[in-house]
Amino acid sequence: MLLAVSPPEQPQHARSSELYRRALRALPGGVNSPVRAMRAIAREPIFIARGEGAELVDVDGNRFIDYVCSWGPLIHGHAHAHVLAAVAAAAARGTSFGAPTAAEVELAEEIARRMPAVEMLRMTSSGTEAAMTAVRLARAATGREQIVKFAGAYHGHSDGLLAQAGSGLATQGLPSSPGVPASVAAETIVIPWNDPGALVAATEQHELAAVLAEPLPANMGLVPAQEGFLELLRERAHACGALLVLDEVISGFRVARGGAQQLLGVQADLVVLGKVIGGGLPAAAVGGSAELMRMLAPAGEVYQAGTLSGNPLAVAAGLATLELLDDSAYARLAAITERLAGGLREAAARTGAGAGADARAGAYPVQVVSAPGLVTVFFSRREVRSFADARACDLDAHAAWCRELLARGVYPPPSQFEAWFPSLAHTDEQLERTIEAAAAAFACLAEPAGA
Ligand SMILES: *Cc1c(COP(=O)(O)O)cnc(C)c1O
Repeated sequence: MLLAVSPPEQPQHARSSELYRRALRALPGGVNSPVRAMRAIAREPIFIARGEGAELVDVDGNRFIDYVCSWGPLIHGHAHAHVLAAVAAAAARGTSFGAPTAAEVELAEEIARRMPAVEMLRMTSSGTEAAMTAVRLARAATGREQIVKFAGAYHGHSDGLLAQAGSGLATQGLPSSPGVPASVAAETIVIPWNDPGALVAATEQHELAAVLAEPLPANMGLVPAQEGFLELLRERAHACGALLVLDEVISGFRVARGGAQQLLGVQADLVVLGKVIGGGLPAAAVGGSAELMRMLAPAGEVYQAGTLSGNPLAVAAGLATLELLDDSAYARLAAITERLAGGLREAAARTGAGAGADARAGAYPVQVVSAPGLVTVFFSRREVRSFADARACDLDAHAAWCRELLARGVYPPPSQFEAWFPSLAHTDEQLERTIEAAAAAFACLAEPAGA
């Protein structure tokens, strides 16, 4: 009998499909957070059974090298022994008390040591709550109501912060959300990122409580500030009597020991933190000067509360995560990221559609943007400087590329409006396999439009 040459083995997803059918009846869209549904890349979600280091194992037994890492918190990868031990020890002492614990004080002190802008902080269970509290505090401190945010920035899903938001909202192509009162939306002035003229105009025309920004925006893909823009942000906010609120939910303790503020040399009046500080459990925080933070109840009159805020398990996971994040860890994460970003660039150049004699001329037209611990592959010929640029990317080609990666055992964020999250658990061998898969996936794509 002749053996046919078999095509590369395709992963099977029978159990995920069956769970998805059930989930669609039990959960809206089958998920508890929209981007997980993978609709932007036109495929069904993959149900996860477990994580090991930088890898995921799904319910059908397929393995993936994971670049979502829970959307940022898992800087040490999945099920890290040190983090698990801390969580298990905390759980054995009781999961929640609704009374203060020593570890909360330790975590607040550790964060204050790393981030000069944070003298005191208040913990919450999600970044959404922390951003919402930061805005309330800024309004109380300034006696003003309007705020500026940037198109494509994401600050959680509270009413006032959804206008032209990035992340899942951008992934679904929604400008805002039904259910947000027009009166609330009117308090948010949305301007383009990296547009000094729009920033100057907004701060001249409006009585602002806050200018709110991701210092290293990563929810429209990664779109760093142009030279001088962060300095202008601080200068303009203060010139008009507003507070500068920097949302470091992604960048905090990911890009440097002191977050993007350290990496980029800018200091906020209020800082929003999350993701890494919970080490994979629900924890976030808003921090700032003692003077501002003492406005919060019960020290002051601005109300804010939470049944599970400062939860002992989350605090233990956060402390254990930060304990492992010394200067050498950040140097290693930067090296891992550079290897990945460089490899992806090289893969696009090597396997570009329509490659001629000159490999560069045939390079697949992508922009690989990186910062320590963050990477985005924009399917664009031009540099991406704004949300409008990000939306002009070839989203279909990006989606097809993501599907090809998944078929080859690499799990990318399934949206152009997100960043890859390489972790300290990603090994050289896994990075090499990723780059090979990326090259093969580029080679599968049709000729780019206008090639
Ligand atoms: C994820 C994110 C949030 C929201 O945090 P949740 O914990 O999902 O509510 C806020 N800001 C930024 C920059 C984020 O990336």
